[in-house]
Amino acid sequence: MLRLHDTALGRTTELEPREAGRLGLYICGSTVYGPPHIGHGRFSLVYDVLRRYLEYSEVDVEHVSNVTDIDDKIIARANEERRSSEEVAELYEAEWWEAMDTLGCLRPTRVPHATAYIEQMVELIAGLVALGVAYETSDGVYFTVSAVGDYGLLVHQSLDSLRSGARVEVNEEKRSPVDFALWKKAKPAEPSWRSPWGAGRPGWHTECVVMSLALLGEGFDLHGGGQDLIFPHHENERAQAVAIGKRFARHWMHNGMVEARGGEKMSKSLGNVLLLTELFERTDPRAYRLLVLQSHYRAPVEVTAATLGDAESALGRLDALSSRLVEAAAADEGASDLVSASGSTEDAGARVRSAFVEKMNDDLDTPGATAVLFDAIRRANVAFDTREQSRAMELTRAVLECFGAVGLIAAGTVEIPESVLELGRLRDFARSKRDFAAADTLRDEIYALGYIVEDTPGGTRIRR
Ligand SMILES: [Zn+2]
Repeated sequence: MLRLHDTALGRTTELEPREAGRLGLYICGSTVYGPPHIGHGRFSLVYDVLRRYLEYSEVDVEHVSNVTDIDDKIIARANEERRSSEEVAELYEAEWWEAMDTLGCLRPTRVPHATAYIEQMVELIAGLVALGVAYETSDGVYFTVSAVGDYGLLVHQSLDSLRSGARVEVNEEKRSPVDFALWKKAKPAEPSWRSPWGAGRPGWHTECVVMSLALLGEGFDLHGGGQDLIFPHHENERAQAVAIGKRFARHWMHNGMVEARGGEKMSKSLGNVLLLTELFERTDPRAYRLLVLQSHYRAPVEVTAATLGDAESALGRLDALSSRLVEAAAADEGASDLVSASGSTEDAGARVRSAFVEKMNDDLDTPGATAVLFDAIRRANVAFDTREQSRAMELTRAVLECFGAVGLIAAGTVEIPESVLELGRLRDFARSKRDFAAADTLRDEIYALGYIVEDTPGGTRIRR
């Protein structure tokens, strides 16, 4: 079972889903006001790796990630570019998905848009006002943070220390500097929606609490996002759920940031923001996934020409091994027709798989897991060199399967859906029982799905 560092607990704990075999995951997604940069790429990769690994572990993942399509930054960009906020949001959302597809990130199973949930947000805010934990001012509606006894749980700070650290604001109507906006009254010419407090729009923190509860239900399994969202965003989401009396996320997970040029934080003001489109011009997008995998998800990732270069050459070793397997499999064709390799070589692959799983289950230790796989790559190459063909192939298959489990696909191989691989395994089983009629039926089924079956000494091989 996967163990994860839970931000609320401040330690690693077993990830216990509400319902065995299923996991509801809510990840704060993008505010679509500009092109995505490598920081966005990193968090998307981290949660893509988590999701893929859970699916590899036969957990059914409901992955919800929102799009914030109304926000101050979107309005500012719309004014700058002299177009509507909708147009700005649509344009940058399209860019977002294009970049995520290039990175090989699976699309979330649900993508709620903030503007589609305004009614429910108004309802929540009205409920909070009715409970006396929110109040109206001349520019909006604010949440009374002191109403939540354990406020500061995620950031591990007391309300007093948060209050003294808060930025002093000009807004004198706010009762405390930590109180936050639930509703923002519209300024002239701003896009707005109707509410009991006049025309306006919801605050960002209200958006995520409403959409996560609406789509995943109370006490959903895991809420994630970048470490920069712990406070105030996630603390404030949670505060609203607590105040309205709803059970919120069971577990909290946060990923580290991206650093450029020797530990420097990437930021617009430092002028070191690297867009994903710029990254794709420089390097194979898979190299970025590998770089992210080689760093622990809670640690910062240093993205420089040197670290990307190292990841690219490591990727080259994976691709080269994959080609050796393709060549070896081709050479084997028409030779012996054994269903599976001998026990000892299967063990070599099984040992790689279990070492990989052990590392991954330990708070997604992807640096440890990739080290296991690169060691297996080295041993597979030695086995190929010494003509221990079946051992080499078994090791290589294990490496490709494990990298595939975290979304890293070797060049020349096509990602084959798990459902098709399962048919292949059933076919191996049928052949091992000498039930050739069943094996042929399964081959036809696989063919009908667009894949070709090849018989190799290692078992059924499936190609697109
Ligand atoms: Zn959020």
